[in-house]
Amino acid sequence: MLSIETSCDDTCVALINRPDNGTAELIQHVKSTLDSTEVGGIIPTAAFDHHQSHISGAVERVLKENGLGPGNPPDLICATRGPGMKGSLSIGLDFAKGLSVAYGKPLVGVHHMLGHLLVPRFESGGVEPQFPFLSLLISGGHTMLVLSESLLKHEILCDTIDVAAGDALDKTAREIGLKGNNLGRTLEEFVQTGKEDWHFKKYELPTPLSNKPGRLNQQNFSFSPFQGVIKRLILSGDYDPTNIRQQRALAYQSQKSIFDHVVNKVKLTIDANKDKLKGVNHFVASGGVASNLYLRTRLNDCFEGTEIAKVSYPSLELCSDNAVMIGWAGIELYEAEGLTTNRNVVPISKWPLSDIMNVSGWKSEREE
Ligand code: AMP
Ligand code: ZN
Repeated sequence: MLSIETSCDDTCVALINRPDNGTAELIQHVKSTLDSTEVGGIIPTAAFDHHQSHISGAVERVLKENGLGPGNPPDLICATRGPGMKGSLSIGLDFAKGLSVAYGKPLVGVHHMLGHLLVPRFESGGVEPQFPFLSLLISGGHTMLVLSESLLKHEILCDTIDVAAGDALDKTAREIGLKGNNLGRTLEEFVQTGKEDWHFKKYELPTPLSNKPGRLNQQNFSFSPFQGVIKRLILSGDYDPTNIRQQRALAYQSQKSIFDHVVNKVKLTIDANKDKLKGVNHFVASGGVASNLYLRTRLNDCFEGTEIAKVSYPSLELCSDNAVMIGWAGIELYEAEGLTTNRNVVPISKWPLSDIMNVSGWKSEREE
C-alpha cells in the first residue's frame, strides 16, 4: 500500500506492508516540509509550489528503493482527500489517481482527521485503542475532542470556535521573537532552558470561555484571545522584548495558560458527557502539539473518577502530519468496509469528521 499526504505544508509518501497474517509494517516514510521560517507562516501558494516540486521525487524514491513499479505495483493507493488547502490536496490526490490508473489498483481518498484518529491503532498492529475511544486531536490546524464509536462514527464533543492551539502557540512564539519552522517546539525548549525566569514577572493572560453569568460550562476551545492579549501586551510597553528574563516569563506563562485552557475544557467535556463516555477506557492525544511534555503531564491528571484507565500518544513522528496515518486509515476503510474512492472525485477543503460517508465518490466493493 502506497499513501500520499499533501493537505498542508508537508509532502509525505509512505509504504506499508500488510501481509495476510494481519500485521502492518512500515517500510518507508518520506516527508518534506515547506520551510516557512522567514515568512513566519504557511502561505498557501508556497505550499502548493512545494508539493508540485516534491511529490514526483518522493513517490519515485519510495517506489525505486523498494523495487516497485509496473511489474510489481503497490496493491492499494491512498491519498488525503480533505479537509485542508484545496490546491495542496489536489496535488497529492491527482498524483494518487494517476498511480491508480497506471497500475490498475484501487484508490482510497482518506479523511485527514481519520488518519490522525486511527494512527495509534497502526502502532499497535490494529489492536489498540479499541472502539469506543476518546481522542484529543491538537495541532496547527485543529483542536478537538472526539468520541470514536466505530471506524465511521465519530462525534466531536469539543471543538475550537476560532483558531487551533498550535496556531496560537506559533503566533505567541513569533510575537516573543522566537524563530524556527516548528515554533511550538521552539517555545517549549525556550521555556525549559530557564526555569528560574518563569515567574520573573507576572503577565495577565486570558481564560477564554470561562464561566460567567449567561455562559456556564461552554464545551468549546478558543485560542484567539491569547494571540490578541499577547500582541497588545507587547505593544503596551509593559514588556521589554530585549530582556530575555521577561521573554522567558511571558513564554512560560503563555504556554501554561494555553494548555491550562485545553486541560480545563477536556475535563469539563468529560464531566458533561459521562453517559456517552460509559465504556470508554482509552484516551489518545495526537497531532503535533500533543508532543508537548507539559501538556502530556497535565492531560495525565484529567481522568480521575472516570472509566479512562489508559492514556497513550502516538510516537512523535506519527503525531504530526504524515502519510503513514493516511495509509493506515485507507487500509482500515478498505479492509473493514470494502470502501474505495471513484477516480473522478475532487478534494474537499471543509469535510466534517462526523460526515465521512456523506460525500460523493465512495464505492463499496461489497455492494458490487
Ligand atoms: P501538525 O499540524 O500536526 O503537523 O503539528 C504542527 C503544530 O504542532 C505546529 O503548530 C507546531 O508548533 C506544534 N508543535 C510541534 N511540536 C510541539 C511541541 N513540542 N509543543 C507545542 N507545540 C508543538
Ligand atoms: Zn493534521
